[in-house]
Formats: sequence, C-alpha cells, structure tokens
Amino acid sequence: MRRSLLSLTVASAVCMGSLLGGTAIKTEAESISSLKQKQSDIQNKQADLNSSINKADQKIDSLKGQQVDVQSELTRIGLAIDNTNKGIQDKESKIQDTKVQISKLQDEIKVIQERIQKRNELLKDRARNYQENGNVNYVSVLMGAQSFGDLIDLAGAVATIMEADKAILQQAQSDKQELEQKQAQVQTDLDNLQKMVRDLENLNNKLNSQKTQQANLLGSLQQEEKEATDGKMDMQEQSQILAAQSSAIQKAIQNEQARQAEEAKQQAAAAKAPTSSSGGGTTAAAPSVSSGSFTRPASGSVTSGYGGRTDPFTGAGTFHYGVDIANSGPNVPIVAAADGVVVTAHVSSSYGNVVYISHSINGHIYTTVYAHMSRYMVSEGQTVTKGQQIGFMGSSGEATGQHLHFELYNGPWAYHSAINPTGIVPF
Ligand SMILES: [Zn+2]
Repeated sequence: MRRSLLSLTVASAVCMGSLLGGTAIKTEAESISSLKQKQSDIQNKQADLNSSINKADQKIDSLKGQQVDVQSELTRIGLAIDNTNKGIQDKESKIQDTKVQISKLQDEIKVIQERIQKRNELLKDRARNYQENGNVNYVSVLMGAQSFGDLIDLAGAVATIMEADKAILQQAQSDKQELEQKQAQVQTDLDNLQKMVRDLENLNNKLNSQKTQQANLLGSLQQEEKEATDGKMDMQEQSQILAAQSSAIQKAIQNEQARQAEEAKQQAAAAKAPTSSSGGGTTAAAPSVSSGSFTRPASGSVTSGYGGRTDPFTGAGTFHYGVDIANSGPNVPIVAAADGVVVTAHVSSSYGNVVYISHSINGHIYTTVYAHMSRYMVSEGQTVTKGQQIGFMGSSGEATGQHLHFELYNGPWAYHSAINPTGIVPF
C-alpha cells in the first residue's frame, strides 16, 4: 500500500504537467500499455487484500476458539462456586446443630452443678451439727435408745446416711466431669467446622476473582473479534472496489477516445459545439459547470480541507484524505466532477451511500469518490458526464452532519492514497 502510494505520487507530478499543459494527448498505444500496467497493479493489490482477508479469517477463528475455551472455563468455575457454596451451607447447618448441642450440655452441667452445691451445703450442715453438737446428740440418741441393739442400729443408720451422701456427691462429680469432657469435644468440633467454613469462603473468593478475570478476558476477546470482523469487512469492501475498477477504467478510456475522436472531427469541421451538462432531474441548485476537465462536485462551503485534522469522532489527530463541502436543505445535488464511468455505487459502513467514478482525461486515469450521500442515482458501469447529477448530499455512514466528502485519486483508487484535489478540482 505504502509503495504504491509513493509511486502514484511521483506519477502525479509528471502527469499533472501534461494535464495542465492541455495540449499533450497520449497515443492510444500508451493508453493501452498504461491501462494494462494499472490492471496488473490492481490485481497485485487484490492478491494482497485476499491474503489479508484470509489472515483476518484465521484470526477470527482463533478468537472464536479462545472464547469457547474461556466459556468452558467460566462454566467450570461456576460449578466450583456452586460446590463451595453448598459446602458452606452444609457446614453452617452443622455449626448450628453443634451450637445447640453445646448449649444443651451447658444446661445439663449447670443442673448437676446446682445439685452438687446443694448436697455439699447439706453435708456441711450435717458435719457441723456432728462437730458442734455431736456429743449431745450422740448422748441423747444413746439415752433415747431402748436397748443396746437400738443404739447400734441408730449409730449404723447415721453412718449409712453419711456414706450414701458421699456416694451421691461422688457420682454427681463424675457426671459433671463427663459432661465437661463432652463439651470440650463438641467445642473442638465447632472450631473445626468454623475453620472449614473460613477455608471454603477463601476458596469461594478465589473462584470469584477467577470468574471476574475470565469474564474480562471473554469481553476483550469479543471486542478483538468485533475489530477483526470490522477490518475484514473494510478489506472486502476494498476488494470489491478493486474488482469493479478494471472494467470501469477500460470503459472510461474508450469513452475518452471516442470523445477525442469526436472533438477532432468537430475541430476539423470548424464547428465546435459548447459542452453542456446532460442534467439529471435536479431539484435544487447544482454547481455551475466549469470549463476545465473538472468541475465542483457540489455547491456549498468547504468545511474541511485535505490534510491533517482532529477526528470528529475520536478527537484524535488524523489525516483527512478528502475535501468536505457542506450545504443545507433536503435536495442538494451531487454531480460528477468529470466525464467518467461509475466504478461502484454502494453502501459502506464508513462512507455511507458512496459512488466511485473512474475518469480518463487525456489518457490519464483519475478516480473520484463521493461519500455520505442521502442516496445515489447511478450504478456500476454507467457512463456519466461532467456536471451530471449522481445523487444527493446527506449524512449517511460516519458523518457528523450533512456534507459531501469528496476524494480524488491520481490513478485507480487505492487505500489511503487520495491526493489533494485543491488546484485540480475547482472549489
Ligand atoms: Zn470528509
């Protein structure tokens, strides 16, 4: 692309001299050899484009494959998150059960503790009685005894009661110890469960951050695929324009040769008729047709010239490959800038309704482009004359307002190689 742009620029300087000289008319042989050269250039460019389109296809395929991988990774992570959530729920319910168990054990311990305390008090009271009043009671018990046998019985009874109290107390204490051990065990269970929940929650956090990462990756893959697809569409559009160009150039040369032959005939007859526009059902003011090879493509004011400028969409510095002519009103005509043949008239995502015209002027090929039309009135292969209406001004495609974006190419159309039309086309 860059190499062809340079070669065209050099050719431009040479051909412009002959065009401005006005008298130099190339021979038919030269025209045909130059046409063949141009067609071979176009074929090379198309081969380049096709290989770029293939590369774009491969990239799109690979991006799609990567997206499938990321999707399945996302599914896997989703399942793992479900599992950990289930695990957390399960452990939480076990924790609840364990807490209930602990609280029950605590209640039981409390009951036994109270029992122990009461019995302890009772035993202390009795022991105090024996100590303080033991002798008196013992004497009164003995004195109250009817016989020696009674006395033995009574003493034995006192001892039995004391033994029984002691046994009950020991039993209660061992019950309490057992419950406390049980409580300690359940408390350990609870600690373990709580640790498991914390581990599961950590795992869940990790999985969720993985999920976010994968979702972001998927988003950028989708964006990349969209860009690759847009790029491929641009290249396909370019390829179609190139394909239409050869036949349009051939026809433009034939038309020009016929026109020159006719002109020569008329000059010989010394009856030169003035050139007139054939018109095209104009409903608003068309620009007046200039006498040179080119005429102004639309009436209105030039709002943006050829060269570096700030992109109206992105705000970034960019290169404007054409001249913008803006005008208001519903039916502003766009006219062919010179005699020629329509290369293509189609709808482009960026240029909107766009027409490409190939011109053969004194054996030299030029191409003009008319973008953002509200509609066009010509079709591929159609012959048009200078000043003939080809459509209406609009804002279709990537346009901020109603205007004509006009481009001029020195030679066949080639991506990003439009030249400055100022000085060639009257504005
Ligand atoms: Zn523009």
